[in-house]
Amino acid sequence: MNDLYEVHTHLYGCLDEDDLNWLGSRKSPRWHIYKNSYYNIYKKYPDLEPLFKNRIFHSQKLNEQQKKILRSYYIYNNSKPKGFVHFQLCFDFIIALSHTDPEELKEISQRVSYKQKEYYSEYRMMFNPRISPNEFKEKVFALIEGFSIANKNNTKISKLIISLNREYPNYEWQYEILKDIQKKDPDDILIGIDFAGYEENDPPINKKSFIEKVIKDKQFVFLYHVGESFQNKTPSSTIRWIFQVYQWGIHRLGHATCLALTEIQIKNKSYREHAKERIDHLNFLIELYESGEKWIPIDYVQKEKNKITDKNQILNVIYENKELQLHLDFWNYIINNLKQSAIIESCPTSNIRIAGFSPLFFFEKHQFTICLGADDPGILNTSLEKEFQIAQSIVSNPEFIKQIKINNQKYCSMNIFTNMKKQNLMDSLSSS
Ligand SMILES: [Zn+2]
Repeated sequence: MNDLYEVHTHLYGCLDEDDLNWLGSRKSPRWHIYKNSYYNIYKKYPDLEPLFKNRIFHSQKLNEQQKKILRSYYIYNNSKPKGFVHFQLCFDFIIALSHTDPEELKEISQRVSYKQKEYYSEYRMMFNPRISPNEFKEKVFALIEGFSIANKNNTKISKLIISLNREYPNYEWQYEILKDIQKKDPDDILIGIDFAGYEENDPPINKKSFIEKVIKDKQFVFLYHVGESFQNKTPSSTIRWIFQVYQWGIHRLGHATCLALTEIQIKNKSYREHAKERIDHLNFLIELYESGEKWIPIDYVQKEKNKITDKNQILNVIYENKELQLHLDFWNYIINNLKQSAIIESCPTSNIRIAGFSPLFFFEKHQFTICLGADDPGILNTSLEKEFQIAQSIVSNPEFIKQIKINNQKYCSMNIFTNMKKQNLMDSLSSS
């Protein structure tokens, strides 16, 4: 065991070959999930023969050759193309093997917790968005039970964060159920919620009232994956998304990789953006101007807004001249505000493979408050310890890494949660 605190990792992304073999042998895999994802990318179906021929999922213990074959499907390394969909394909292989029934969840949470190398780790888990409220409840209880058993037999600490699926509207009732469950969780295993999943089509503005409600309730730590991949909007909108969730009180931001996009990377490039997103952005700038940010060229912003005649069109925004300058000034504004108190989780290997680079050098340069996570150490073939070594090779000052280690402990969900509980207690005492 090491003395590290892991603050950004996903439970099923932590599985190894033995866990996958166990999953695939207990119930028939749902191969259609993996096959369909594969087809969507490559327009052909994957070759699963090597798995069957080598009796993977039919052997109690895998030999090295079998492990190697299994790894070729789910390990997301340099031999696979960059980008979120390719990463997701590896994850979908694991999803195909799993059924997330309560017995499985109880077993997996214990397996992962016993193998945990860090003193503390908080695991995120997201379920199929189509499950019923009862199933949801059973599954969460099974995870709590598994971690609770492991924590009692362990000197390490494992906690649970439920990731809500941002693409589906059921996060509201799921949250209500989680609040109820939390009251029946004497060991405080479940301490937070998170938004994860494909972020491109889900502007945080859709979640504003929900975020504000959760923050006001002060019952859970609230985490948010944002700015991890950036495809269908301008760089300005991407960084605005990060800033908005921060403003609404999210405790820690996941990735925020796009903050590190430099002028050279965006200059003279053309970005496609939905008119609605563009209007949201221009309105945001107008509000900022009215709140006293007079550096915003308000005439230009108004003119751009008036140019949009069809709210359903896809616009082409070119980052040159005024548009480029406006972005750079906005970027500076965002950086200066975020670095005051935003806490960002950075996952070097994950960012390098998915986005093509790690923003750590940028975070160091601007003195952001950073935590480190391994994200999906099983799929990415890494560990938090390795991530610290990789981080060391990216930044210039070793002191920055030392500070990250401290941050991981200081801002882990368990500590935020404990402080929140104390605050709630004090509030109730002072009001009675
Ligand atoms: Zn993540």
